[in-house]
Amino acid sequence: MEPDCTPRFLASDNTSGICPPALDYLLRANACDDLAYGNDAWTQKAADRFRDFFDYDCDVFFVFNGTAANSLTLAAMGQSYHSVICHELAHIETDECGGPEFFSNGAKLLTCAGADGKLTPEGIESLVMRRSDIHYPKPRTISLTQATEVGTVYTRDELMAIRAMADKHGLHVHMDGARFANACASLKATPAELTWQAGVDALCFSGTKNGLPMGEAVVFFNRALAEDFDYRCKQAGQLASKMRFIAAPWLGLLESGAWLSNAEHANAMARYLAEGFAALPGAQLMFPAQANSVFVTLPVTVLEALRERGWTFYTFIGAGGARFVCAWNTTQALLDRLLDDAREALAAA
Ligand SMILES: *Cc1c(COP(=O)(O)O)cnc(C)c1O
Repeated sequence: MEPDCTPRFLASDNTSGICPPALDYLLRANACDDLAYGNDAWTQKAADRFRDFFDYDCDVFFVFNGTAANSLTLAAMGQSYHSVICHELAHIETDECGGPEFFSNGAKLLTCAGADGKLTPEGIESLVMRRSDIHYPKPRTISLTQATEVGTVYTRDELMAIRAMADKHGLHVHMDGARFANACASLKATPAELTWQAGVDALCFSGTKNGLPMGEAVVFFNRALAEDFDYRCKQAGQLASKMRFIAAPWLGLLESGAWLSNAEHANAMARYLAEGFAALPGAQLMFPAQANSVFVTLPVTVLEALRERGWTFYTFIGAGGARFVCAWNTTQALLDRLLDDAREALAAA
């Protein structure tokens, strides 16, 4: 008998399984033994493929998860007495258990508010200019999340304006690309346009949320920052001995084009869900659904009713706000069931 796979998991895009091209390449990489610690043919090939993908001679590293990718990359971008400027809702601030501070030996995160989960040049400058004395941790890096934690995207112009501010104050730009593919799909922009062409020094690109079993690519466009990064990964327990099982599925995503079609699908499903919620009296969208997440305010009794029916979602932003995230395999039928349940619960509220 098939297991009951009725998915009511919309809490995050990491509840989804492995997409077919990634699984296909995982099995291909399993057909033969190969060298360990990234010296295998798959890892070499995937790194080269990333250089084509970005149309840039970048340095590429593979790690297990996003917290490590962000933490180690930020550690590589500054010294322990430096600070990292990020949005107050940034994953590195709210959801990484102090990992960036730990791996950088104490670099401080300086947070700033901003509409729709986005940093602004003005917000960045106010943090830089607040103090200039030796008692303040010296600003060194701007970290921005593309797509943002609230499902919006930075346009190319917004990225360029942030780069200009970074240049003005001698700062590096780090991009948390947990949903980078969704941003490319949303903006119909190439990976190059949203990274090195917009002045991004390093990108943490999530495969996990795009359809891999696990794995993130750390991509350094500013290659000087990648010095000894392999040692940093090893020391942090992030050097996979069977690295080919992270690299080969990545190659599957890139060669098949699934990286983009997965993201386009997830974004389309989020737009569908957002439109559905917008049409429900009593439900209120909190942010424009520009990527694959939908944030909606619903009465507490409705949230409870949805949970009782088995729906999973997070409510960590604001009182009564719920986040639903779509993935490469989210179906319209599933979202229709969610909307039906929400409609019923709202009518009873
Ligand atoms: C999921 C996510 C990460 C990575 O999280 P891990 O659980 O450590 O893989 C990083 N940034 C953002 C914005 C995320 O949503």
